[in-house]
Amino acid sequence: MASRSGRVSLLRGQDLAWLARRVVAFGIVVGAPIIAATWFRDGPHDVWVRWGYPPLGAVLLVFGWILLRRPAWALRTALTILVLLEIGWVVVAVGRIGREPDVATAWASLIPTPLLGVVVCLIVGFLFQRTRTALLHGAFYSGVMTGAMATAFSRRPGGGEYVWQSVRYGVYLGVFLVLLLVLSRAKEHVASAVADAERADATASRMRDMAYLDELTGIANRRRLMEELGYQAGLLGPAHPVGVVYFDLDHFKRVNDTYGHELGDQVLRLVAQITGRTLAHRDLLARLGGEEFVIVAPGTHHEGALALAERLRQNLPEELEATLGVRVTASFGVTDLRPDDTPASVLRRVDGFMYRAKADGRDQVRAGGA
Ligand code: GH3
Ligand code: MG
Ligand code: MG
Repeated sequence: MASRSGRVSLLRGQDLAWLARRVVAFGIVVGAPIIAATWFRDGPHDVWVRWGYPPLGAVLLVFGWILLRRPAWALRTALTILVLLEIGWVVVAVGRIGREPDVATAWASLIPTPLLGVVVCLIVGFLFQRTRTALLHGAFYSGVMTGAMATAFSRRPGGGEYVWQSVRYGVYLGVFLVLLLVLSRAKEHVASAVADAERADATASRMRDMAYLDELTGIANRRRLMEELGYQAGLLGPAHPVGVVYFDLDHFKRVNDTYGHELGDQVLRLVAQITGRTLAHRDLLARLGGEEFVIVAPGTHHEGALALAERLRQNLPEELEATLGVRVTASFGVTDLRPDDTPASVLRRVDGFMYRAKADGRDQVRAGGA
């Protein structure tokens, strides 16, 4: 259960762990002053409070610290301390039953602190251990405690009634254990449901990526481009022009033929990176397929789109050459999205301008507006 940070996760599911930590923090804030106050008030005349409460307070603080900080090494130590405390608690209870002047006072002296202490130990067991271990631990401790109490009462005159009281208390503890078991199982189911939901969410987002991203370059694919063009056509207006730039690498087949397909792929990835760096955050860059790319630039006028294409025409070959040692130019078509455009019609138009650039000798920008 130790994580990379060297801490253990005590509960499955971050939210439940968070809740448990808050509960313990609350327990410390409320419990520690009560223990301290009782020790000051009753310690001088009650030997059990005098010697029993300091370790109880220490255990509370150690457990609180472990739950809040969760250092991996401390978990085993904390469980050992819990068992020692439980042994001490049995000794305290049996001692009280033996020392008090009569059995009624002895029973009264067990209520509420020593008996509630058992309940706290059972809860702490469920917070720190797996459900099955916590159940065994709880059953064993409850059995030992009630057995010890019943035996201690049976040795005193008139203790018979309190033997049965002890057994009744044992039955209550059993019912309480079953409740804890149900809660703990429910907690585990919720945690595993949360984990399942997180896994399903991750799968869905991976599938979304597969549906909308180009595998080679990691930028948007044709499907994503078509959706964006349709979406932007719906937003068009005088205050919201949309520039569209289409470019195709020149003589790219030669690059593959000369340097190999692997370097061709590297060129395509680098073109995507360089272009991506040039764009504004709201712009979309997509790979239409092969060595053809499209930029959708919302809020960009014709002149802006033209300037963007010209900037890329100059930068791309320089940066590709500087990084990969291959000079590759590109031909650009530029247009504006029109209100009556479909994604296919705007792509046809801008593709036409790109072909004009090819026909005019490549490494050119050709444009036509609305
Ligand atoms: P033009 O200037 O007329 O565009 O010439 P071109 O060679 O770029 O055009 P053509 O359409 O004849 O060839 C495109 C080449 O792009 C063909 C193919 O080898 C290459 N290509 C397409 N997709 C990929 C890819 O994913 N990786 C690599 N390395 N090459 C690709
Ligand atoms: Mg080409
Ligand atoms: Mg092409």
